[in-house]
Amino acid sequence: ATAQIGVTGLAVMGRNLARNLARNGFTVALHNRSPERTRSLVAEHGDEGTFVPAESMADFVAALERPRAVIVMVKAGGPTDAVIDELIPLLDAGDIVVDCGNAHFADTRRREEALRGHGLHFVGTGVSGGEEGALRGPSIMPGGSAESYRKLGPIFEKIAAQVDGVPCCRHIGPDGAGHFVKMVHNGIEYADMQLIAEAYDLLRAGLGAEPAELAEIFREWNAGELESFLIEITADVLGHRDAATGRAFVDIVLDRAEQKGTGRWTVQSALDLGIPITGIAEATFARSLSGHADQRAAARRAFPDAGEKKWQVTDRDAFVEDVRRALLASKIVAYAQGFDQIRAGSREYDWDIDLGGTATIWRGGCIIRARFLDRIRQAYDEQPDLPTLLVAPWFADTVNDGVPSWRRVVAEAARAGVPAPAFASSLAYFDALRAERLPAALIQGLRDNFGAHTYHRVDRDGTFHTRWAGDRSELEA
Ligand code: NDP
Repeated sequence: ATAQIGVTGLAVMGRNLARNLARNGFTVALHNRSPERTRSLVAEHGDEGTFVPAESMADFVAALERPRAVIVMVKAGGPTDAVIDELIPLLDAGDIVVDCGNAHFADTRRREEALRGHGLHFVGTGVSGGEEGALRGPSIMPGGSAESYRKLGPIFEKIAAQVDGVPCCRHIGPDGAGHFVKMVHNGIEYADMQLIAEAYDLLRAGLGAEPAELAEIFREWNAGELESFLIEITADVLGHRDAATGRAFVDIVLDRAEQKGTGRWTVQSALDLGIPITGIAEATFARSLSGHADQRAAARRAFPDAGEKKWQVTDRDAFVEDVRRALLASKIVAYAQGFDQIRAGSREYDWDIDLGGTATIWRGGCIIRARFLDRIRQAYDEQPDLPTLLVAPWFADTVNDGVPSWRRVVAEAARAGVPAPAFASSLAYFDALRAERLPAALIQGLRDNFGAHTYHRVDRDGTFHTRWAGDRSELEA
């Protein structure tokens, strides 16, 4: 046994992760259900490091040093369970099975419990950054036991992206914590992308500008507070021309956004936890709406004119700055909500997740990588019990500075009939959070009226009910 770690599942992600491990000096055992993938990896990249290829799962396991560490990188769902079932009888107590696929955290919790019963460690690990990340340094979010991290940590921290000398990997917490955090990461990614898309749409409507001109604006934004991978590639995509037609690439792409499901998972979990992640939810629903072609066509026919006003921007620079500030404020809301969800999940499942640490490992390697995450880390490091990221000093100042712009942009968008659901709902969330009184009081009144659901009073303790159908006297429950 000579290999420090093994990878089974050598499609694009597993292959690149195995190469990354080998390039960093680790001896890597290789296995794939169909052996052609193993052979082609060794044939094409065998010179990048030390690989120990195996054609059977038994030979693969036999090639590993103890305690064995096996990375499973196969299609999520049934295939992951099939591979785990194949591995269990071949492993010994103390060995570690690492699932780097996109598993739902509830599946990870179930698998962790089952493998614990066999004396095995199961480490559900979120890996972000796509194929390029897997090869050159992803953001890695391992869950599972602290003991398993003692073996995996030094390996993962070496192959992860590095920012300012700090690896984009840390132990997130027990059982499903890693996959949970990866899920919320993807939800935030949905929100980030939706906000960027709305900003583009608003700029285009307001300025009547061509995508290439808008690319320039995003390039400028990328030099400031909004600096991030997603803003950078937005400039790239907007500046791209379709070779076949010579038109702006963004104008020849069908406007129907697809999803693989992690946004949906994030929203479902937030509903269970009772955390209003309105930015992520709007982003997820906006993708769904884009796919309803029949309804969109019918609505276009039914409402050719809905009283929208032509958008007339008089001061170009001021307008661009308004959109930039509105984007930044809405983005802060989306991140604040995502971190609220991580905190709630951590409490619900006893994970003890370090929020600042989580922000740290998203600074590089992953799709939402951004300088901005340093601010989040600082905020939670300075005040771990921060009620919401919105009130941390830098965030509060930025939102305060941006509020007039935010209101102008959302109001103008509504007047012009340009949909900006994530901008608008983020602003509504902000206003609701800071409201002195919410109309929730009326909802409590209605609930008590039709269902005797009771209410609390502002002026004294206790639980009350009004006899709505009777003499309207109040009872204390
Ligand atoms: P795929 O999700 O396309 O899965 C293909 C791999 O799964 C192949 O190695 C295949 O083996 C194996 N496989 C499928 N069914 C079985 C089975 N029943 N038993 C054994 N092996 C099976 O591969 P990717 O590389 O795209 O992704 C791997 C994992 O990483 C997935 O969970 C994915 O969600 C996740 N992920 C992907 C990212 C990406 O950007 N693609 C980013 C982050 C995570 P065979 O060759 O024999 O068919």
